[in-house]
Amino acid sequence: MAGELLQQAEKLPQAAAILLSPGSIFGVPQLGCALTLATGFLAWRHWRRRQRFSARLLWRVLARSRKLLCHPSTGADAIYYLINTFAIGGLIGWGLVSTDLVVTHVVRGLNDLFGPRLALAFPAWGLRACITLVAFLAYEFGYYADHYLKHKIPFLWAFHQTHHSAEVLTPLTVFRVHPVDTLIFANIAALCIGVSCGLFIWASGQPVTPYDLASANIISVLGFFLLAQLQHSQFWMPLRGIWGRMLLSPAHHQLHHSLDPAHHNCNLGSFIGVWDWLFGTLYMPPKASPRLRFGVEQAASAPHRLPALLLSPFAAAWRAVRRG
Ligand SMILES: [Zn+2]
Ligand SMILES: [Zn+2]
Repeated sequence: MAGELLQQAEKLPQAAAILLSPGSIFGVPQLGCALTLATGFLAWRHWRRRQRFSARLLWRVLARSRKLLCHPSTGADAIYYLINTFAIGGLIGWGLVSTDLVVTHVVRGLNDLFGPRLALAFPAWGLRACITLVAFLAYEFGYYADHYLKHKIPFLWAFHQTHHSAEVLTPLTVFRVHPVDTLIFANIAALCIGVSCGLFIWASGQPVTPYDLASANIISVLGFFLLAQLQHSQFWMPLRGIWGRMLLSPAHHQLHHSLDPAHHNCNLGSFIGVWDWLFGTLYMPPKASPRLRFGVEQAASAPHRLPALLLSPFAAAWRAVRRG
């Protein structure tokens, strides 16, 4: 039944798919889940403090969200959404290399070097579950490596700072990414996933594909539902202790956007905190919100206007190259 519904959702016209597809960040399923989680968290926090949680309080919080939606920074996020989704991503795509191409070359190369392997006697569902996890971890590693380089290399930071120039965080901010930034990320991610899955397929001796939902790895879809929407939001929802090392909660990512120098270059992962933990960039969020300010110190003169959004990163990158 669920499978039939998903097939129907995939056939929907684009506008309806944006609203209804489980893979859409503007879809009712993801937004509804984020709102339910945020409401549940607020109610739980009030219950722990023995305070009353009422519908009026929730309305006050949502009214504040309305103010954020009218901020010029959110308008710029929306422009970036249109440019990235429909103009560039829709017309030319992002991949110089595709995951499938990398997988094919890795499997062929390993077969030439070591010869083909016998098919593993393992249930098909088990192999699919394993490669789903492998692809997810490879994506997360690619995200971390790409993000780390963009914070360390001035030429790459020139493009990545577009994302950090957001002064308020809403679910739209996830699209506030310069096309050059996206292009680099898409190819690093394709390489990481392609090499890992190619190795897995060769070792298992048979073609295996990850479980997906709406063309995305099913574990990533879980991340979209539980974390992605709230990472760019005003809801301070910290995970601490061992959970705060395993997963990057909304508060972790809000610290990543913070202007406070103590928070610079921290929490570089996407959904899992393991890579940050391993490489020493994890910053555990405190229980209470530390009143963060977002943006970049040396922003372009009009950081939310289209010319500054698109062109000033090239000038900044050129200055970085000249400085060596
Ligand atoms: Zn960043
Ligand atoms: Zn962000």
